Amino acid sequence: MADGCACDRHAHMYLTVEDALRRGLSVADPLTDTETLPLIDAIGRVLAQDCTSKVDMPAFDNSAMDGYAVRTCDLGNGPLFELPLAGRIAAGDSGAHDAPAGSALRIFTGAPVPPDFDAVVMQEDCDALIDGIRFSRRPKPGQHIRRAGEDLKADAPILRRGCEITAREVAALASAGYGEVTVYRKLKVTIFSTGSELKQPGETLGPGQIYNSNRYMLRALLDKPWIALTDKGPVEDNPAKLERVLREACDSADLIITTGGVSVGDEDHMPRVFGEIGGQVDVMKVAMKPGKPIMFGRRGNALYVGLPGNPVSAYVTWQIIGSQMMARRAGLHHASQTPQQAVLAEPLRRRSGRQEYRPVTIEGRTLDGTPRLRLMAPSYSGRVALLAQADGLAVIPAETEELSEGHGLTFLRF
Ligand code: AMP
Ligand code: MG
Repeated sequence: MADGCACDRHAHMYLTVEDALRRGLSVADPLTDTETLPLIDAIGRVLAQDCTSKVDMPAFDNSAMDGYAVRTCDLGNGPLFELPLAGRIAAGDSGAHDAPAGSALRIFTGAPVPPDFDAVVMQEDCDALIDGIRFSRRPKPGQHIRRAGEDLKADAPILRRGCEITAREVAALASAGYGEVTVYRKLKVTIFSTGSELKQPGETLGPGQIYNSNRYMLRALLDKPWIALTDKGPVEDNPAKLERVLREACDSADLIITTGGVSVGDEDHMPRVFGEIGGQVDVMKVAMKPGKPIMFGRRGNALYVGLPGNPVSAYVTWQIIGSQMMARRAGLHHASQTPQQAVLAEPLRRRSGRQEYRPVTIEGRTLDGTPRLRLMAPSYSGRVALLAQADGLAVIPAETEELSEGHGLTFLRF
């Protein structure tokens, strides 16, 4: 606020985060190619079909308890009920039996309950006799029996196309009888980091050089079963070299992600080079902090996302905009992270104008369990190490100048 103004004077010329996201998503058209894979190989991929259950769930009436199957019509007036045991049915048995009227069957959880038996008495409620059982509470018809189709009937919807097949989805598909499923083909993603100053970690830094952190960050963010990644490594700020790598990437990738070189400096070559190879470019100045310039473009099949070089800006613009463009391109629905509610553990003063994503740590909770957020330093844009110490990003709306301690905010948990 050196100029005495509490607002960013240029912010009105920038796109809001919402508009930038909308613009980015509008060029990220989803893949349409699919492949059908054995279920085990579809883990982690993006489902490309709506799925309904192939079977009733459960498939047959079965016992919810370890205990004894009885016919309630066999029971007298009590107060004690005694029945001889006439057989045993475990999970995996067919349920066939030859138990005469007036007898019980030993039964275990998941075992089929024969159609002529109508209740299960749990073993904890029974005394074992030499060859029978005794219990005192009259079972209700249907007690402790899970009925066929009670969870889900055959043909009922279980999953919509566009979900990531994680543990929960693959378990649902397996239980519904899917031996194979149709998924979108892998998204071909090519990455490279621009910057003549970049060295690999482990190398010795010369004057003016820094370690390339964006490459590793992107590798981690893109380490997903539905991505086929090509990493072109670092590329110098040399237009001819950048052009060659970009051209190759455009010819093979569905999505190209680069970092650096998208601002307006003399060494920021990406928008021009991408235009020169026939790409359509849109450089968006977004009213967000960190991360103003983000570039995207299209050439042929390739969608191009150019992130800022500054590592914190690259991370935040990726999380807020780039990752959602990628998700849409890969066929995924519901990519955005749901913000959580939190309150400030300290007052906040800042310059308004840009929506800010401020690294925060959680410092305790309120009585109702809401996280209390401690703000990390605001001048963080190059300090990527701060991100590793933060618990998440607080979202500070563009127009906010001041907030008091205890004020509510939304927060994106890492
Ligand atoms: P640029 O967007 O290319 O102007 O880069 C902005 C700032 O981020 C500069 O200080 C760069 O040195 C730095 N930077 C660019 N690329 C990387 C990278 N891959 N890893 C770490 N810092 C980077
Ligand atoms: Mg650069």
